[in-house]
Amino acid sequence: MQPLMFSVDEARVGNPHWRRIGSNIMYFSNNIRNKGNKNYYTMSFDVTFPRDTTLVYMAYHFPYTYTRLKRQTLCQTLLNNKVDLVTITAAENYSKPITSREYIVISARVHPGETNSSWIMKGILDFLVSDHKLVPMLNPDGCIIGNHRTNMAKFDLNRQWEMPNPNMSPSIYYLKGFIASLNAKGKTPMCYIDLHGHSLKKNAFIFGCDGTADVLALPRLLNRLPMFSLMNCRFQLSRETCARTVVYRRLGIPRSYTLESTYNGCNQGKHNGLQITENDLCQLGVGLVATIKLLKDYIAIGKGAFGGLGAPYQALTEQKQERGADSDNSVSEEESEASFEI
Ligand SMILES: [Zn+2]
Repeated sequence: MQPLMFSVDEARVGNPHWRRIGSNIMYFSNNIRNKGNKNYYTMSFDVTFPRDTTLVYMAYHFPYTYTRLKRQTLCQTLLNNKVDLVTITAAENYSKPITSREYIVISARVHPGETNSSWIMKGILDFLVSDHKLVPMLNPDGCIIGNHRTNMAKFDLNRQWEMPNPNMSPSIYYLKGFIASLNAKGKTPMCYIDLHGHSLKKNAFIFGCDGTADVLALPRLLNRLPMFSLMNCRFQLSRETCARTVVYRRLGIPRSYTLESTYNGCNQGKHNGLQITENDLCQLGVGLVATIKLLKDYIAIGKGAFGGLGAPYQALTEQKQERGADSDNSVSEEESEASFEI
């Protein structure tokens, strides 16, 4: 995976863009240890600056800033930034009144450095015309001040879901409360998806909480997308405090997922051997929304009827091999945590 460069000089002559640069790229564990006695990592690379360059910016991944988002407020953060809640639904009509519609909740950017998730969310936002509740940036403070993973109070917000503090972790406190309020109204979301970026693995894939057919339906349907890898998926309960597990256990939503997307590239399909682009991630967002629509049909019509419904549903009747809790080649939670991806 190459880092990215933005030339201010090129932008000034009408060509603003981020491009991959660098050679001799290495990413390795160094000798510096953190408080948990785990090693930090170093990324090193060589880069030649273009002739006559006066100012460039460099980035780990395609930037996606707070100011790109439109606003409706879920809560205020420690730095008084707004956490947006976006509702997208079709206009009221008699055949399907708004009060009878199912909810989908999708959040992203709890980890500021994982701009992947914002590009997927952009694809979703651009495409969506259905009943979805979106929280595009769960950690705006971290995004604005340039943290990679934590908020202003040094909390990893994806470790605060069990007992979120309204003062220290307001976005988690209010999003959890919002989902609980939907439950209380008898409007439990059909699924919850938290978007993340993965620094180690290739492709896009899902972590779910159990291996039941209902939970496996979404990843099986997603498997038709060129970036998605069912073989990278894992279905088991994670640590208690992350979004996926708490939404599953405490808020009673079985289809509670973490969607991971690679920082680097794919080793399958039409993207095989290529580095990931902003457009690939946006298209993953579009594909995710189209797949949620398929999932709604699957739930509405019933599993048994899908044998004869054609190609997109074929995966639901096939016994594909998933990586699960009882699989001997699954990646342990500790391995995943060590390389900070979830
Ligand atoms: Zn993450």
